[in-house]
Amino acid sequence: MNKIEMKTPLVEMDGDEMTRILWTMIKDELLLPFVDLKTEYYDLGLEKRNETNDQITVDAANATKKYGVAVKCATITPNAARMEEYDLKEMWKSPNGTIRAILDGTVFRAPIVVKGIEPCVKNWKKPITLARHAYGDVYKNTEMVIPGPGKVELVYTAEDGTETRTLVHNFTGAGVAQGMHNLDNSIESFARSCFNFALDTKQDLWFATKDTISKKYDHRFKDIFQEVFEKDFKEKFEQAGITYFYTLIDDAVARVMKAEGGFIWACKNYDGDVMSDMVSSAFGSLAMMTSVLVSPHGYYEYEAAHGTVQRHYYKHLKGEETSTNSVATIFAWTGALRKRGEMDGIAELSAFADKLEAATLAVIEGGKMTKDLALITSIENPTVLNSRDFILAIREELEKNL
Ligand code: NAP
Ligand code: MG
Repeated sequence: MNKIEMKTPLVEMDGDEMTRILWTMIKDELLLPFVDLKTEYYDLGLEKRNETNDQITVDAANATKKYGVAVKCATITPNAARMEEYDLKEMWKSPNGTIRAILDGTVFRAPIVVKGIEPCVKNWKKPITLARHAYGDVYKNTEMVIPGPGKVELVYTAEDGTETRTLVHNFTGAGVAQGMHNLDNSIESFARSCFNFALDTKQDLWFATKDTISKKYDHRFKDIFQEVFEKDFKEKFEQAGITYFYTLIDDAVARVMKAEGGFIWACKNYDGDVMSDMVSSAFGSLAMMTSVLVSPHGYYEYEAAHGTVQRHYYKHLKGEETSTNSVATIFAWTGALRKRGEMDGIAELSAFADKLEAATLAVIEGGKMTKDLALITSIENPTVLNSRDFILAIREELEKNL
């Protein structure tokens, strides 16, 4: 069989622990036999990040700007325990944070829906993709404990020195106060990423804030989304047959519960943090959740939403068998390959991505799965496979369809 040719390389970001083990298996069994895989390889494993003073992460992000599409393995975000475990020079920042800061993107998380793993919400038939604004609000706040009576004000000092003040509260006793901000630029890029992703995936876009209560702050988000939409996306949405829908956050929450799915739900930073945990757990499993960073300039970085599955890795190191779910990591690869195929006009490459996804789902629907899924499936007497055998079962299924 002739391997499918690629034109432009993918930016490949390798990672840590159990997902690093899966990464190699996926490449060896599911990609390299079928695709003449072109990648520019960056090792974002913690050892290499430490060795390069984290320059490798910056290089990988810049390569994504050059080539447009990246695929990333889960990586360790160091904490105190990791400092010791890996003898680190510094507590390096989260690679995802570093990459996001360079690409200025929005993260979209979507569950992989498969028969046999039913969402807890029985009317959810299609995936709900959650887009979370990743800048500002309570995540960049300033807080104050107010010890007793006194006045708290917000003061804006313009560059020419003029001051604008507004009263937060006249305290008659002790309490707390908080200052938050956001930036028009950041909100606008968030809006553009959401509109572009909706067009890309041909799904409706919902956006919600609390603008009835927050008449300036949240209202700004609503207005910027509306302006960007009217100016650059309205016609494209009409042509694509999709809609943009703004509503109040409480109304959105109520409607999501009754909806069928199949849309993108854009959320402010805090709403997105909380709601993505709700949506993903209700869809079944963290191991079945994909994640893509879409920059307003049209760069894409695909990954699994879960971490490096440390507990399984330690079992693996001890020579024990693991049954780690590789589905989200496989879908990170297929997402990236499909996008590369679209950008380079290689229909065969995109079709391969579709077939690999279909083969993965067919294996699960046929009752073969990893342990995490076997625990929640509605399929009777599932066969539990170890990490490698699950990938080999997908290869067998894929070969039937190629
Ligand atoms: P995790 O790796 O997502 O794993 C948490 C637990 O979820 C696992 O112990 C496992 O449960 C289950 N799980 C997650 N993915 C699974 C899979 N593919 N197959 C089967 N079970 C799966 O989160 P963590 O343990 O909190 O974090 C480990 C490391 O990952 C940390 O160093 C963290 O910094 C990093 N992390 C990276 C990213 C990223 O790169 N995007 C995201 C999150 C976390 P059982 O143990 O019960 O089987
Ligand atoms: Mg959260």
